[in-house]
Amino acid sequence: MVEQFDVVVIGAGAAGMFCAAQAGRLGRRVLLLDNGKKPGRKILMSGGGRCNFTNLYVEPAAFLSQNPHFCKSALSRYTQWDFIALMQQYGIAWHEKTLGQLFCDDSAQQVVDLLLKECRLGQVTQRMRCEVAAVAKRGDDFFLTLPDGDIKTSRLVIATGGLSMPGLGATPFGYKIAQQFGLPVIPTRAALVPFTLHKPLLEQLSVLSGIGVPAVVAAENGVSFREHLLFTHRGLSGPAMLQISSFWQSGEHLTVNLLPDTDLSAFLALELREHPNQSLKNALAKLLPRRFVEIWFALLAIPECTLKQLTHRQQADWVMALQRWRVQPNGTEGYRTAEVTQGGVDTRHLSSKTMESRRVPGLYFIGEVVDVIGWLGGYNFQWAWSSAWACAQALGAV
Ligand code: FAD
Repeated sequence: MVEQFDVVVIGAGAAGMFCAAQAGRLGRRVLLLDNGKKPGRKILMSGGGRCNFTNLYVEPAAFLSQNPHFCKSALSRYTQWDFIALMQQYGIAWHEKTLGQLFCDDSAQQVVDLLLKECRLGQVTQRMRCEVAAVAKRGDDFFLTLPDGDIKTSRLVIATGGLSMPGLGATPFGYKIAQQFGLPVIPTRAALVPFTLHKPLLEQLSVLSGIGVPAVVAAENGVSFREHLLFTHRGLSGPAMLQISSFWQSGEHLTVNLLPDTDLSAFLALELREHPNQSLKNALAKLLPRRFVEIWFALLAIPECTLKQLTHRQQADWVMALQRWRVQPNGTEGYRTAEVTQGGVDTRHLSSKTMESRRVPGLYFIGEVVDVIGWLGGYNFQWAWSSAWACAQALGAV
């Protein structure tokens, strides 16, 4: 026997749960499927367990896609303020951490509970640990082959996310469905991901593992971010590096300003006036972690010297270079630790208003599986909420 639903949503992550709930609340009979044991696994992991669920400063410029205009419609129709209002409606307390990033005061579980409650209100049927073996379209209907029987629906929503963190259930299912139905997929790669370094530099920097400094990091295309940089035992991480990873191409250099808040010439002039016999190392250790200063001296083979011995040329070569350190990553840590996947279903084949395929009526793609990613800081969940909401409105209207 073939069971029938108005809408089937594959993927019970942020986008899939929200879309299923909203479509259900608009009167559709919805089935939500996922390959995992529990829904919303990435939400639970996010924001250090507190879920950075949106950002006060959401704007299209904070999103990357081959088609930068695509995200505008959904983001403007379901905004950060709408999701904040929903959080308030559920009495979930939140706070701004930095740069407009909003986190739950208590736990990311509250966001999952909110979505589950919304799904209950929408009378959504859920099936976890469910793999879809095959999808076929005959006439206006999609037929899904599941382990325990077939499902028929006229509206199929793909919300299976990207490839990041395979341990949390990520699969290429969404891309395969797109290709099966003739929709191109923009090549994918790991983004919002730490960098690895070539061996000699990694070995030199390894003692800095765990040290963080504020920095401005720029990619070769001129994009830059001012956030924290973290030295790790594999290379470079922290928000500054995760952000710039979305703009870095293999083989390129990054330029790092390790003292973004300091007028270094003025600092050195003052130190020279007040402590001319102070060592250069001790002077720099007033601005940066001493361990970093030691490494910097080793990297540039700087001999011990006092401030009064320092020539203008040496100052430019050794000290000012702290504000334009050029470093060439070896690569990134890849999907294993990436927060998102760049690339995905080509937006030129989707309606930005409904997320429906232009070529295949009734087939929708939402969330990270689409070629849209946001900056670090709550933007990716906002894309999940906005794209899901836009899709659900269309599902409710048909
Ligand atoms: P997902 O949340 O990935 O959900 C996809 C679902 O589909 C999963 O449940 C998966 O199990 C299921 N699925 C996959 N394949 C199949 C299949 N073949 N059959 C059935 N089901 C399938 N973004 C922020 O904005 N703020 C943050 O604080 C933040 N923190 C993050 C922390 C971590 C560690 C990670 C990895 C990501 C973080 N992100 C954050 C990014 C954010 O989690 C994602 O962008 C967002 O979850 C995408 O939502 P989605 O619903 O499209 O995909």
